[in-house]
Amino acid sequence: MSIAFIDLAAQKRVLGDRITAAMERVLGHCGFINGPEVRAFEEQLAAFSGAQHAIGCANGTDALMLVLMAENIGPGDAVFVPSFTFVATAEVVPFLGATPVFVDVQEETFNMDSQSLEAAVQTALHKGLKPRAVIPVDLFGLSADYDALVPVARQYGLTVIADSAQGFGCSYHGRRSGTLGDYTTTSFFPAKPLGCYGDGGAILTDDADKAALIRSLAVHGTGKDRYDNVRIGVNSRLDTLQAAILSEKLAIFEEEIAARNRIADRYTQGLAGVVKTPDVPQGLVSVWAQYTVRVKHRNAFAENMKRLGVPTAIYYATPLHEQTGYRGFPVPEAGLPVSNVLAQDVISLPMHPYLDEQTQDRIIEAVKASCTDAV
Ligand SMILES: *Cc1c(COP(=O)(O)O)cnc(C)c1O
Repeated sequence: MSIAFIDLAAQKRVLGDRITAAMERVLGHCGFINGPEVRAFEEQLAAFSGAQHAIGCANGTDALMLVLMAENIGPGDAVFVPSFTFVATAEVVPFLGATPVFVDVQEETFNMDSQSLEAAVQTALHKGLKPRAVIPVDLFGLSADYDALVPVARQYGLTVIADSAQGFGCSYHGRRSGTLGDYTTTSFFPAKPLGCYGDGGAILTDDADKAALIRSLAVHGTGKDRYDNVRIGVNSRLDTLQAAILSEKLAIFEEEIAARNRIADRYTQGLAGVVKTPDVPQGLVSVWAQYTVRVKHRNAFAENMKRLGVPTAIYYATPLHEQTGYRGFPVPEAGLPVSNVLAQDVISLPMHPYLDEQTQDRIIEAVKASCTDAV
């Protein structure tokens, strides 16, 4: 039997009629844009995370862009982003005319390193850029180290924008993703831990004024009078159908997070001493968007796994600062050595809440066999 890397069909079987019933309700009232399900889901999302306000939008990339727009970030401004992440984290910055400045990550957690952030701020200042914001990423489902990053951000007056596209639902010392930065953004792309059946995203914040500003920016810069657009905005909305689907998925999300953690624990036990397994610092709970290990001979390893019928994926084979569109942007003087090393040897194993123990064991055995062959 073939193994799925992420099994959305298994989740759909569990949710069963609830999804079709939710979609039927929307088909019944035909309020496809701004239907009642959108506000209802936003309120559920805010309650789940502990944030005061949640605003749905079209996708996780727009969520980041809308926050930068709300902070009026543009030419001459520096925004600090990790290099070891998905491209969306960085792309919104030059899109708005600002300069992304790359920051290295920690080898143990794959997440932004506060010392490298400090060095990157110095680089930006030397270049005459104005440090404005930092976008720590909760990579692979694990929260960044906000207790280390926020003080550096405060020292330089940076707005903290947590990119939790992969991390929504994770916890950091008892606090949920959504409350760890000035803003948190997330994505409901189907493969994310909380995904919909298409594109979707959201912004979370405790700041009521900024939440209202983002709502306006997401609907063409609309004012109180819908025929008077008071600022330049965009069109970025969460569809009613997607919101209805997401409410059903959010209702089982807590159980799914627990299941993901049981699977990750089992992988970590089974793979101890075989490959470098991912670390979860004390006080943190990951949502395991990816279970990412490090291996010595990655190409051979991946080929062996494939031969044994186990899919793998590489996040990320090239750090952003080495990608063609991003080579010209500043990096700290010491470079980004950890991002470079991780890009060489990381590889992710199948991960979703519905992996049964028998399949987990097959995967663990395949990893063991693939390593022996590879070395
Ligand atoms: C997926 C992702 C995004 C973008 O989300 P989309 O909904 O695909 O636009 C942003 N940042 C990170 C880290 C992601 O993994």
